Amino acid sequence: MRHADRLNRIPPYLAFEIDRKKREAISAGIDVIDLGVGDPDQPTPDFVVEAMGRAIRDPRNHTYALGAGVREFRQAAVDSMARRFGVQLDPVKELVPLIGSKDAIAHLPLAFVNPGEHVLVPDPGYPAYASGTILAGGVPWPMVMSEETGWLPRLEDIPPAVADSARILYLNYPNNPTGAVATPAFFREAVAFARKHDILLVHDAAYIDTWFDEPAPSILQVPDARECAIELHSLSKSYNMTGWRIGFAVGNAEALRHLALVKSNVDSGPFKAIQWAGSEALSEADGKSTRAMNELYRRRRDLLVTGLTALGVRFNPPRGAFYIWARCPGGVDSLTFANRMLEQAAITVIPGVGFGAGGEGWFRMGLTVPERRLDEALERMRRVL
Ligand SMILES: *Cc1c(COP(=O)(O)O)cnc(C)c1O
Repeated sequence: MRHADRLNRIPPYLAFEIDRKKREAISAGIDVIDLGVGDPDQPTPDFVVEAMGRAIRDPRNHTYALGAGVREFRQAAVDSMARRFGVQLDPVKELVPLIGSKDAIAHLPLAFVNPGEHVLVPDPGYPAYASGTILAGGVPWPMVMSEETGWLPRLEDIPPAVADSARILYLNYPNNPTGAVATPAFFREAVAFARKHDILLVHDAAYIDTWFDEPAPSILQVPDARECAIELHSLSKSYNMTGWRIGFAVGNAEALRHLALVKSNVDSGPFKAIQWAGSEALSEADGKSTRAMNELYRRRRDLLVTGLTALGVRFNPPRGAFYIWARCPGGVDSLTFANRMLEQAAITVIPGVGFGAGGEGWFRMGLTVPERRLDEALERMRRVL
């Protein structure tokens, strides 16, 4: 069967072989410690599940979520933005409910990018920015980042011709895979850059509630950000709700209108019962459940930080998100290292090159496994290294 050429342009999934070997090892009865997952191991908080139970029994929630959807979800989302970041938003004009942030990442290029136009994507970075661009006929332009700049892109290195032709600039802090958190000064610089070159700035804030030392900033805290920027919020990581598919986009009203137009022709918004459950999560004024999750990730982070340091593995201690981004010991390439970890230690990690060429030489470990298993993983690594 003939398929469209655009599918051939999606970068190959480089860790495919490692995934296959992992499944083989597991079915052969080997006790594999999977540090490759980017999915919380804890369940969705009870109060959210209970809200879902109530909402799903209400027939008013069984219909299309057309128009504004569930008003209470919009209100809970803008209230949480005001409470957490001091950002005031109009719940109708400056917010679009999302079926997870990937919804926006896939649909924004359809609204903003003509065939052949550039989208600036972080490298290393979450692969959906580039593949969403490619599916819309656009061309990803990797902003290669490094340890030296704290995994922030050097915007001044983007050739002016590329900057002028680019339609979207993606940022993601706290960052997957590096654990970096952006400074307010960098966000100000990014807003000025986007305004100068007339680019839609999209900040993927999927991990904004997951931080260790100080709260992660919102790009909408930059005074004129809403002239050029939108921010994607997701309940996936914050409330252990990856499978539920719920989030929201906030910021520039015109950009959100264009996104909503695409979405109205593709999906009909998140299931209303899930919007009710989401509004319950976002209304948890004291942030109790996100605080408890951060404590759990902090203990796991500290355990790995101590253990990896003792092993002589070099890494960037994460300031947010739930990953450790580390240098492959011995200077080997990341696929070789990940293979070696699986074959010799029965541990899966994500090779950095899976996040783009800029991730070569690094690997990602997830903090989404219990401390007991992390201890065991460190012991196995000690034997191999
Ligand atoms: C997990 C993740 C998301 C979340 O996607 P959803 O569609 O909201 O589940 C978005 N961006 C990054 C960088 C992620 O790692």
